[in-house]
Amino acid sequence: VTATPQPPITELDDIFISVKTTKNYHDTRLALIIKTWFQLARDQTWFFTDTDDHYYQEKTKGHLINTKCSQGHFRKALCCKMSAELDIFLQSGKKWFCHFDDDNYVNVPRLVKLLDEYSPTVDWYLGKPSISSPLEIHLDSKNTTTNKKITFWFATGGAGFCLSRALTLKMLPIAGGGKFISIGDKIRFPDDVTMGFIIEHLLKVPLTVVDNFHSHLEPMEFIRSDTFQDQVSFSYAHMKNQWNVIKVDGFDLKTDPKRFYSLHCQLFPYFSFCPPR
Ligand code: UDP
Ligand code: MN
Repeated sequence: VTATPQPPITELDDIFISVKTTKNYHDTRLALIIKTWFQLARDQTWFFTDTDDHYYQEKTKGHLINTKCSQGHFRKALCCKMSAELDIFLQSGKKWFCHFDDDNYVNVPRLVKLLDEYSPTVDWYLGKPSISSPLEIHLDSKNTTTNKKITFWFATGGAGFCLSRALTLKMLPIAGGGKFISIGDKIRFPDDVTMGFIIEHLLKVPLTVVDNFHSHLEPMEFIRSDTFQDQVSFSYAHMKNQWNVIKVDGFDLKTDPKRFYSLHCQLFPYFSFCPPR
């Protein structure tokens, strides 16, 4: 019998889960994460914010990192946080780096199962684009009058994405130690686009599309409830007086407008706040 080579077994503790947040979202977004999926990955999840906050520092058992990046939803602040996430992952020695936004629900066991299918010693960029064709950008090159046109895919940050350690080690010389920010400055695109530029364009490692990641750029209501277990991430958004949220039975809309408590109880019914079944 010839055994096919199998990737090494990946466990939760091999994963570094980073969540980007900001002062204004601690009460409105972080609190919800802490009550739900964070409880399944307390030692592996780190929150990257822009202020000191003793209350949430205690709630997360010291897992809140003040990046000292500026507050605000602008490119420089967001790239500064992503740069900090990457650098702290590199120091952690973990096998996988997974980034999420603070409006993501992470289905922790499914994330572990996903990464178990890949090897951390091979270059992997796993995520989901939110555009239907690769992004085309124009790089202004020095000493020439012609602009160079390039195209690449990027994984939407708001859906979450994962990088293998092998890939991040290749990124280290060009994007480590804060250099991620300079690359973002150069191309003048957001953090997730900068990530795609570094990985696909500079390192020539292609994005592997994983459809089980979901950002609120997709309509959440179309994710079928009988597939919740198989999804890696979910999100929500409130836009134009309407919620873009998953359709799930459970708590009423007033108690759970973002639907994450209801989703959590569908996936993990033994949690104390879930109704007895
Ligand atoms: N964010 C941030 N600083 C800000 C605003 C947002 O770090 O001033 C983070 C936020 O915590 C989230 C991500 O950026 O993780 C995306 O923010 P949001 O969901 O508000 O906007 P979107 O880009 O999804 O429309
Ligand atoms: Mn968002």
